[in-house]
Parts: sequence; C-alpha cells; structure tokens
Amino acid sequence: MENLAVIGSGPAGLTAALYAARADLNPLVVAGLQPGGQLTTTADVENYPGFPEAVAGPLLMRRMREQAERFGARIVNDEVAGVDFDGERRELTLSDGAKIEARAVIVATGASARYLGLPSEQKLIGRGVSACATCDGAFYRGQEVAVVGGGDTAMEEALFLSRLVARVTVIHRRNAFRASRVLAERVLAHARIAVLWDTVVDEVRDVAQNEVTGLRLKNVKTGALSDLAVRGLFVAVGHTPNTAPFRGRLEMNAQGYIVTRGVRTSVEGVFAAGDVQDPTYRQAVTAAGSGCMAALEAERYLGSRGG
Ligand code: NDP
Repeated sequence: MENLAVIGSGPAGLTAALYAARADLNPLVVAGLQPGGQLTTTADVENYPGFPEAVAGPLLMRRMREQAERFGARIVNDEVAGVDFDGERRELTLSDGAKIEARAVIVATGASARYLGLPSEQKLIGRGVSACATCDGAFYRGQEVAVVGGGDTAMEEALFLSRLVARVTVIHRRNAFRASRVLAERVLAHARIAVLWDTVVDEVRDVAQNEVTGLRLKNVKTGALSDLAVRGLFVAVGHTPNTAPFRGRLEMNAQGYIVTRGVRTSVEGVFAAGDVQDPTYRQAVTAAGSGCMAALEAERYLGSRGG
C-alpha cells in the first residue's frame, strides 16, 4: 500500500511530489503519456519566476523532476487507465493492468490541446496539421503557415513560427483577440504575421497529396469563402482536461474539469491540482502552487488518519 500516489508529472504533479517527498510521505508519481506535461512542448517560458532570461520548457520540467527525485519521489513512466475510489479504496489501474493502492491520491493530469474537429483536419494531423509549433514548426522553414485561435497560445505559436517561416496568417473567429495585450500587440506589429478576423477554417485542403496544401476559409459575417495557400496549420483553440479515467468517480463540471474546494475533490483523500481543475488561470506557476497546496492537504489528511 502506497502512502500517496501522484497522477501526472507537469508542474502541479512534480511540485506535489517535491513537497510530499520532503514531508517523508514517500510519494509515487505516475508520470503519464507526456512526462513533464505541456511545458515540454514550450520553447521559452518567460513568466516562471526566477528566470529573468527565460527558461526552455523541457529544461524547467527536467529540473523539477530532479528536484522531486532528490528528496525521494519515485516516478514510474506509465499511465493511469482507471481508478476505484469506492469506500476506503484508492486504487489506480495502470495501462498495463498493474494496480496501485494508495492511502491518498493527488490528481494532476493536466489538459490537452483541442482541435477544430473537421474531418479534413483530423485526417491531416501529423501531416501538416499540428497543435504544437515548438514541436513541428521547424518542418515549415521558409514556407507559409496559418495559426487558428485568438488566445495567448495562438499568439505565442504565431510569434514562434514567425522566426522560422516566410509568413504566418492568424485566423480568428472574432474581430478581437482574447490574448493578453503584450502578446497581441507583438503579433499585430509583426511584419511577417497577417491576421484574418471573423474567419474560420471550413476545410483543410490536401489535393490528393495527403499533406496540407491550403485552407478553405469562411468569413463568419458575410459567409464569403476564400482560399489560403499554406503548408502547415497550427491549431491553438484551447484545451480539454485529461479527466477520462475519473469520469463518474470524481465530481466534474460541464467541461470535464474536476470540481475542487481549494484542492479537495468530491472524494475524501483525493486531491486535484493544476490544469485538470483550473479552466481559468492555467499557468505553470499556478499549477505548481496548487500542487504544493495538494501535498500539504494530503499530508494533513494522512496525519489525521495516523498515516
Ligand atoms: P484560450 O481558451 O484562452 O483561447 C482559445 C482561442 O481559440 C480563443 O481565441 C477562441 O476564440 C478560439 N477558439 C476556441 N474554439 C474555437 C473553434 N472551434 N474555432 C475557432 N476558434 C476557436 O486558450 P489558450 O490555449 O490560448 O490559453 C489558455 C490559457 O493559458 C489562458 O488563460 C492563457 O492566458 C494562458 N496562456 C498564457 C500564456 C502566457 O502568459 N505566456 C501562454 C499560453 C497560454 P474566442 O476568443 O472567440 O473564444
């Protein structure tokens, strides 16, 4: 029987593991399919305190992992496929069928990028359609690409791509960005970034080559259709929480985010931290902060039960 299982290895999970390890709770971290989480697909993190010159996302996550391991956190590279939180049981089933029982659990499984859902887009994921410019941008050096979305992620993707490609077109369904002003202004002022307002992607074109050759666009105000020749489409339209294994086991809101009071879930002894329970802030630093809170709450919970 484990004392504490932490599910997820982004800033929330690893900070929870660090605090729990330093409190001698001997936590076991199940790292998930993307160890390190979303920051491992982020080139430069400019807003994590303590790094005035920015830090590469993968490096930041490696250091967080090393820090947690230094104090004794154990990390397994596996994925949780299902959970049983009935009665006194806190049982996790891993993707290979192995089971872990724990006295307390911290869920920090984060969120994943969303796509538009067009059949033509789904067909071309990995062949010109991507949700990660830092992962795939280098394939489009010197070519034309488009970014869909009007949030901070879309701005960051467009700015990152503008260093590599000939031209970036940002396609946004409204006539104003939701992104923070500093990023939006950088995009609007950039010579190699164009913006198409009130526009959605109607179809991703591949002209029998099975790789992206262009987009059919639709102006949502006039209904007018137009074509844009691009070789890459980067989708940056938000995220979906990774809560499938917890459905029916923990209370969730309509979007599938785990409902928390502080970091407590609807099940005693099960806590949640980071993006999996936060549709609002979704920052590395807030995720890390809530990971710390979850570990302190777990420590208190285990202490109250003589653990
Ligand atoms: P957001 O939810 O903030 O933005 C999603 C964007 O995609 C919106 O502009 C939305 O349009 C658009 N969109 C959603 N669905 C569709 C669709 N089906 N078709 C077309 N467009 C669509 O997500 P982000 O990933 O950008 O950001 C998430 C959070 O992370 C935010 O809190 C953000 O501030 C933060 N973040 C901060 C960064 C930083 O500070 N450096 C970097 C990256 C993210 P509409 O505006 O019309 O709703």
